[in-house]
Amino acid sequence: MKKLFSIFGNPVSHSRSPLMHNGVFKHLNYNACYTRTHLQDGEALRQTFFDLKLSGANVTVPHKEAAFNACDEVRGFANKIGVVNTLVNENGKLIGYNTDADGFMYAISEFDSIKSILVLGAGGTAKALVSRFLEDSLDVTILNRSEKRLLYFKDLNCTSYTWNNFVLSHYDLVVNTTSAGLKDENLPAPDSIIDQILNNSNYVADAIYGKLTPFLKLAKDKHIIYKDGADMLLGQGVLANELFVNFELNKKDIETQMKKTFFL
Ligand code: NDP
Repeated sequence: MKKLFSIFGNPVSHSRSPLMHNGVFKHLNYNACYTRTHLQDGEALRQTFFDLKLSGANVTVPHKEAAFNACDEVRGFANKIGVVNTLVNENGKLIGYNTDADGFMYAISEFDSIKSILVLGAGGTAKALVSRFLEDSLDVTILNRSEKRLLYFKDLNCTSYTWNNFVLSHYDLVVNTTSAGLKDENLPAPDSIIDQILNNSNYVADAIYGKLTPFLKLAKDKHIIYKDGADMLLGQGVLANELFVNFELNKKDIETQMKKTFFL
């Protein structure tokens, strides 16, 4: 019987997930179809999932916390941050996972010897990534525009700075998790700070996808190896697809097919 998957979000029309997962199902002959569901009320997620007879789903903004609460069981890293982006129907039970942070780790796995990371920004994405980095005992520093959101990271014993008290160090990787550059041409911190940081970093990544942000452009000009958010998106998608097909497909094949959908 054909399996049905969906993504829940509000808005959801922009999501690339249907394209990514359908590309895999079609080209690897997996009998499944992936659609999108515009969901306004996160409380209705569980009922809607079962009403639609879904085998699995992804969850995007703003329902990732509601998805955590909707589950019968949450596995792995998702438990640590209380955020679920992937749901699997396991014999009528709703099982939750988070593949966002692991997807990022997968995306940067080709970068050599990452031990120290500077995270720019202190929002939801930063929280998930930092928690994941700390699981691997990486040395994490946070730089954010303002003080308030840094409290969370201070509690995790991370070194954290605002633009006003930043002290430069060498970083193996710098990750932009701010929304600077998403809808504007801003850098994630003042020019002089970003310039110093890039001159002392081996690799650069940005969570934003679909454009070369001013931050990545600067890294490119300085000949630093970089990745944009498409790799993070791809990483979470590959790991979610593995869960959807219960590891019946080869991971590299999933990645190859999914990657093709980025160039459609
Ligand atoms: P949040 O709203 O939770 O956090 C935003 C952060 O950006 C805050 O730390 C804020 O600082 C900072 N910020 C906002 N504007 C600026 C600016 N002009 N200059 C410097 N700092 C700024 O956002 P999310 O964590 O949910 O998302 C962040 C980005 O990650 C978005 O661009 C999103 O599209 C992207 N993303 C990509 C994913 C992928 O798969 N590739 C997955 C998830 C997110 P302050 O505290 O001072 O306000």
